[in-house]
Amino acid sequence: MGPVDEGNILRAGVLSGHAWLRHGFGTRACGLTRPPAGYAHSRVLMLHQIHSGLVWPDPAPGQPGDGILTRTAGRLLAIRTADCCPILIADVRRRAVAAVHAGWRGALARIAEKAVGEMHRQYGSEPADLRAALGPSIRACCYEVGDELRQHFRARFDYAAALFQPAAEDPVQSRYPMLFLTGSPPGHPGDPRWNPVPRLRFDLAQALARQLAAAGMSTAAVEILPFCTACRSDLFYSHRRGDQGRMLSAIGVLA
Ligand SMILES: [Zn+2]
Repeated sequence: MGPVDEGNILRAGVLSGHAWLRHGFGTRACGLTRPPAGYAHSRVLMLHQIHSGLVWPDPAPGQPGDGILTRTAGRLLAIRTADCCPILIADVRRRAVAAVHAGWRGALARIAEKAVGEMHRQYGSEPADLRAALGPSIRACCYEVGDELRQHFRARFDYAAALFQPAAEDPVQSRYPMLFLTGSPPGHPGDPRWNPVPRLRFDLAQALARQLAAAGMSTAAVEILPFCTACRSDLFYSHRRGDQGRMLSAIGVLA
C-alpha cells in the first residue's frame, strides 16, 4: 500500500476486493465536508459523536452515538476523527457494514466489541465473516497519559498491562541519574517535580484490536493502518497537536 492513493484516501487491504463494498480513510487533504470521491450519489449518514459506547443500526442523522451499522445499499456511514481511531468493519458474507469512532472513552466502554455484537444481533454476522480496519489515529509513540487511565483499564480488561508502556525517559533524568537516586535533588526536598506521576504511553489501536479479538475475530482479519496522526502532520489532523480540522472516514454498500 502506498501512503495515500489518488484522491488522498487511504484504503485497507482487508476491505478491498469486494465489488459491492466501498471504503476509505480520508486525509487532511480531503477536508471535513467532502465525502470521498465516488460517493456522490450515496446518502451520507453521520452521528453526533459523544465518545460513548453507543452503537446504532440505521440511526437518524445526527443521533448521539459513536458506532453505526447498516445493510442498506447506497447509505454511506461516515466518522470524523483527529487522533481518535476510525474503525471500519464489513461482513463480507451478509454485506453489512459498520463505522466506529473510538478514543480512550469509547475503548473503555468496549465500543469495538459492541459493534461486532450488534452486527451479530442485527444481521446474524459471524466473527469469521468480518473484516475490520483501524484507520490513522494517535499511536503509542505520541499518546502520553497518566496512571489514572491505566487504573480505569485495569479495572475492566485483564490484558490492560499490555496497552501501556513507560514513556520515554526524561532527558534531564537520563543525563543526571545521580540526582534522582534519592527521589529529590540536593536542595529540593519534597519538590513534586522530582517525584512525578508515572508517565505512560497508551496504545489505543492495540486496545481496540484486542476488543475485536475478544469478539471472536482473527488477527488476520484486522488491519491496523500504520499511521500516527500526531507524527504525520503532513497527512493528518491531530487534536493533541492543536488542529481544528477532522478527517472523514467512510464505508458503505454500493447501491
Ligand atoms: Zn506518533
